[in-house]
Amino acid sequence: MNGIEQLCPNCGLCCDSTLFADVELRAGDDAKTLKKLGLSLEKKGRGKMAFAQPCACFDGKLCGIYQARPKRCRTFVCGLLKRAETDEMSAGAALKKITEAKKRAEKVRGLLRQTGSTDEATPLTHRYSEAMAAPMDMADEHDAERRGELMLAVNDLMNLLQRDFLR
Ligand code: SF4
Ligand code: SF4
Repeated sequence: MNGIEQLCPNCGLCCDSTLFADVELRAGDDAKTLKKLGLSLEKKGRGKMAFAQPCACFDGKLCGIYQARPKRCRTFVCGLLKRAETDEMSAGAALKKITEAKKRAEKVRGLLRQTGSTDEATPLTHRYSEAMAAPMDMADEHDAERRGELMLAVNDLMNLLQRDFLR
């Protein structure tokens, strides 16, 4: 044990919509069974099925259908975990990155709530796009300031995710 097993249970960014807006099923996944287990599957186009994130089977810490989870979930290993597994980065350093990413994601969620975007079941990127596309409230002197702050917070989060998790 070197702490690597602690990373995913303390993270969940690939299940809670911080990293992905949805997850596509792969060949071999049993859509019927996964639906019964609680995944909210929908047709995505070109005959593909996908489930939106935050994943309905994520309890905030762990996967509720771990043994039966879809193929994409079984095979996904983020860049951070990969580097920790190959000793390119210590588990302690990886945990610090996770803590920082979650802090930045929480800041974005907090700012979204301030803009009136309170549907936590909608993927983070969709909430952000909707908030930025909404007409400016001319009666609210802080509207522009809030949008600016949100844009910076999303930028900070994306930079970290791109650098540490997505490659
Ligand atoms: S983003 Fe990486 S470290 Fe976090 S839960 Fe997913 S695989 Fe684990
Ligand atoms: S099925 Fe499990 S591993 Fe896959 S996104 Fe949902 S909670 Fe995460």
